[in-house]
Amino acid sequence: MMTTATQLGVSIPPDLDSFRSLPARQQPTWPDAAALAAVTHRLSKMAPLARPKEADALRAKLAAAARGEAFVLQGGDCAEIFAEASATRIRNKIRTLLQMSVILTHGTSMPVVKIGRMAGQYAKPRSADVETRDGVTLPAYRGDMINGFEFTPKARTPDPRRLEQAYQLSAATANVVRAFTLGGYADLRQVHEWNRGFISASPAYARYESTAIEIDRAVKFMEACGADFEALRGVDFYLSHEALVLDYERALTRLDSRTGRAYGSSAHLLWIGERTRQLDGAHVEFLSQVANPIAVKLGPTTSPDDALALAAKLNPENVAGRLTFVARMGASNVRKVLPALVAAVRDAGVMVTWVTDPMHGNTITAANGYKTRRFADVLDEVQGFFEVHRAAGTVPGGLHMEMTGDDVTEVLGGTGAIDEAGLARRYETLVDPRLNHQQSLETAYLVAEMLQTR
Ligand code: PEP
Ligand code: MN
Repeated sequence: MMTTATQLGVSIPPDLDSFRSLPARQQPTWPDAAALAAVTHRLSKMAPLARPKEADALRAKLAAAARGEAFVLQGGDCAEIFAEASATRIRNKIRTLLQMSVILTHGTSMPVVKIGRMAGQYAKPRSADVETRDGVTLPAYRGDMINGFEFTPKARTPDPRRLEQAYQLSAATANVVRAFTLGGYADLRQVHEWNRGFISASPAYARYESTAIEIDRAVKFMEACGADFEALRGVDFYLSHEALVLDYERALTRLDSRTGRAYGSSAHLLWIGERTRQLDGAHVEFLSQVANPIAVKLGPTTSPDDALALAAKLNPENVAGRLTFVARMGASNVRKVLPALVAAVRDAGVMVTWVTDPMHGNTITAANGYKTRRFADVLDEVQGFFEVHRAAGTVPGGLHMEMTGDDVTEVLGGTGAIDEAGLARRYETLVDPRLNHQQSLETAYLVAEMLQTR
């Protein structure tokens, strides 16, 4: 297709169907094409959940993070599930992210770019297309956007009506997010309030209370000096998810009449997962056409040439903040594999915001069968990420976490000393294990310390 112009490296007009002729991994096999077409047609008329102006503002903030002038905090569930899209659960996640953010800002005097892995994180890549139990083989669970977790033929058959349900629950979630982040709850003067209801005996809670007291004192001092805190009533909070299901993302892409560019309206930031980042694959092609900030997960098999080719394809004009690389190497690999990637990007003068995902390279199976991670490995990978950037003279720009605001027991260790037997106490995830509230706050304190010496 002839393009008339490019801006931000995306074609104008965009070619939003160019991905269709390319191999697309990890897509469901929809049993009824007509039903799918009816759903995607309806979705294409729905209101956007994220607006171009907001996505552009996020791009500018990600650019600041790449320069070391801000730090990215992206977090949420591995996969959201329909049954848990309740106001309480969402509020717990948001206030945990707000608490982490306050800890980071208090410890480093740096603004934190807050991004939820929420309001659309309803699909999962799987290692196999099918699952067999007791001789029965059914389609694998691919997330609530596609099929149900229950091991029955009915639940496991992909149902396109779930795409609409995902949209509606994402809209409801985005609404709760807006209410909490703009309606006064995120006001720094509420810093104590965010701790209310969390397990009060935990050391992380007590430490947070003392941070909150210091912040309170600073706020009161500034207020007494005549500073205007009305401006601080709300915080910017952005939405993100893995852009996995292309039928959903395509249907929610909109042309921005101001600029002629296309924007994914399902979230502000969309990312490409480790399993779908093939240079000649449909996901990379599709996201090369939309103007949102884009992230790509890079696992331990990534070569420097892979990274540079992805940057050339996804950010041909080398716009700051457009492209984020999320390194998820594993604690044992990060110091070996990441240096060559960081050096190649640095030496090519390629603009990238580097973020660490210390979760996905550290997944293990406990002796009693639970899929888990060791808190110590998570921290070690973050530490390694900082060391690599320090040695290269580059900027460690942020943290990507699987966490929840609830007191689940899915990750081993932390000051709560969750051991293998302890996992059984409250293991709720259907997919990957998440840090609980206390482990999330502990992480924020430790990362704040690492940032102070960045
Ligand atoms: C995830 O973020 O849940 C995920 C599947 O990550 P990755 O693509 O890095 O494996
Ligand atoms: Mn995950």
